[in-house]
Amino acid sequence: MMESRISNATPPRAVVFDLGKVLLDFDYGRAVGQLLPLINVELAVVKRLLVDSTLLFDYETGRLTTEQFYERIREATGFSAGLTTFEEIFGDIFTEITPMTALLPQLQRLGIRCCVFSNTNEMAIRHVTARYPFYAAFDDHVLSFEHKAMKPDPALYEVVERTLSLKGSDLLYLDDREENVVAGWERGWRAFVHRTPDESLQHLRDAGLPVG
Ligand SMILES: [Mg+2]
Repeated sequence: MMESRISNATPPRAVVFDLGKVLLDFDYGRAVGQLLPLINVELAVVKRLLVDSTLLFDYETGRLTTEQFYERIREATGFSAGLTTFEEIFGDIFTEITPMTALLPQLQRLGIRCCVFSNTNEMAIRHVTARYPFYAAFDDHVLSFEHKAMKPDPALYEVVERTLSLKGSDLLYLDDREENVVAGWERGWRAFVHRTPDESLQHLRDAGLPVG
């Protein structure tokens, strides 16, 4: 067994995790594949709706409720199997990234508070809460649709600081999107682009947190 590196760093007091592509991988393609037999438009129309229009942005910033979002989908695609079925399909896009979710109990044993910080929507969170026990075990959850702001909008980073009553280098933040990391870094957070679990574990160890 390799001896762990000794770090002189003052450890952070909380670790802030992005959800998508850090704790959970996701693939909208899976949902689209299941939707196609149930709708009367072609793939390109669904893709335009989810990727090129502001529909998902409006939903994830809380400008649309789940019912309004579903209604827009229904109108645009002819989907008629009901909100519950839609929610099952739309939510079933995730795969747990276990080397990352395994960090949660380790960090909490060290007395480190752990926060989920995500651009997301109500349907996704309902699904994740029901399916993945690690999610509820997080100490805090700061979600775009609940605060009407999306990363990298500083307003959402302020919510994290207020919720945790921590700021600056007391926070260590991992996110796969560079612009989100930069926004954290600009506030004095210790912020890193998540590329692989191995690399992120090393960032935590370098910050004085003996994990892995
Ligand atoms: Mg992400």
